[in-house]
Amino acid sequence: MTQLEAAKSGIITERMKKVAEKEGVSPEYVREMVAQGKMVIMGNTLRNPEPLGIGKGLRTKVNASIGTSTDIIDLDMEEKKAKVAEEEGADTLMELSTGGDLDEIRRRILKAVSLPVGTVPLYQVAAEAIKRYRAIVKAPKELFFEVLEKQVEDGVDFMAVHCGINRLSIERLKKQGYRYGGLVSRGGAFLVAWMEYNNAENPYYEEFDSVVSILKRRDVVLSLGNGMRSGAVHDSNDRAQIQELIINCELADEARESGVQTMVEGPGHIPIDEIEMNVKLAKKLSGEAPYYVLGPVPTDVFPGYDHIASVAGAALAAQYGADLICYLTPAEHIALPFPEDVRIGVRCARIAAYMGDMVKLGRRERDLEMAIARKELDWSRQLEIAVFKDVFQEIRSTRPPEAPDTCTMCGKLCALKAVRRIFEGYEEPR
Ligand code: SF4
Repeated sequence: MTQLEAAKSGIITERMKKVAEKEGVSPEYVREMVAQGKMVIMGNTLRNPEPLGIGKGLRTKVNASIGTSTDIIDLDMEEKKAKVAEEEGADTLMELSTGGDLDEIRRRILKAVSLPVGTVPLYQVAAEAIKRYRAIVKAPKELFFEVLEKQVEDGVDFMAVHCGINRLSIERLKKQGYRYGGLVSRGGAFLVAWMEYNNAENPYYEEFDSVVSILKRRDVVLSLGNGMRSGAVHDSNDRAQIQELIINCELADEARESGVQTMVEGPGHIPIDEIEMNVKLAKKLSGEAPYYVLGPVPTDVFPGYDHIASVAGAALAAQYGADLICYLTPAEHIALPFPEDVRIGVRCARIAAYMGDMVKLGRRERDLEMAIARKELDWSRQLEIAVFKDVFQEIRSTRPPEAPDTCTMCGKLCALKAVRRIFEGYEEPR
């Protein structure tokens, strides 16, 4: 029985109880949200990672993606990246390798971390098709499902499956005159090429029942992939993307009806003024399914700093209801990330998720504690409250103040201290 089936039958599972405890909500609330398809609990039954809830009323979660490319195949580095992501507080990890022995690396990563691990099966379909038939477009239909089964049985906890690209969405793309920024989803691009070459429907759409029954066996969460996602702000929320969103939302209904926990994925590149509309539309059409956004990044012109640009987009998306945000690293749009890029990317996405939750969940207690600690010039308390303590300590220790209750920013002219002397009779510590 999947978590969704249990919830629909009125059963509160041990995993629901653990999610409730971690999130500070009641077990009945978790059951109700899972039953309504507004929350998922990750965990392939073969692997059973620590239960992680994603969805309505819970803390916004952060995903870090790692994986080889055909140019850089370094399994040790990918394992290191996975561990760095976990150490830095990512909630989920996507293993998106496309180069080297994909089975070996996936199995290695699944062992290396205790986070829920997700994949995009189409990447392996494409890689296997090139290896066996020398072209992605030559992949036989069976290969699409062979890969799905293999990854489910390896213990993958969630899968981004591009089911929503069908002949209709491709027609929208053609009728609107393609795109400024092209198709940037690798899975989406592979599928469009395959469908056009073979003049055939998307196997994952055509045989959606099979997708659902394969994932259901191990209670793998289906993440309906956003293959038409905008990769340029000028393409945001275009007809092709909205067409795919509508199809994905219809498929989400079917999957949940069959007992499969489901999320819907969103873009991509969205200008700041369209983020609210995008999140609210996806939530409305999907019956408030957990919404997984990739960034979003609200501008295209800051390569090297896309991790920072995406903090603005992801914070807004989280505020309006996105439940899982995928990080961007400083290497985004330029190269395969290194472990240090992963560290920075996870930290930035955590900041965005935190700021979104300040509004979405009204959580501001920690900020109030920090305000008081600052006013009181209590530096050890500030360190306790700071999320990234290593940076706090490093900066303060490399430029120590003359008076220990101030910092070198204003030194003897510490504004807080001057006012505290007047209002509170504050005296210098010795
Ligand atoms: S020295 Fe300036 S920046 Fe530092 S605590 Fe005092 S007022 Fe704040």
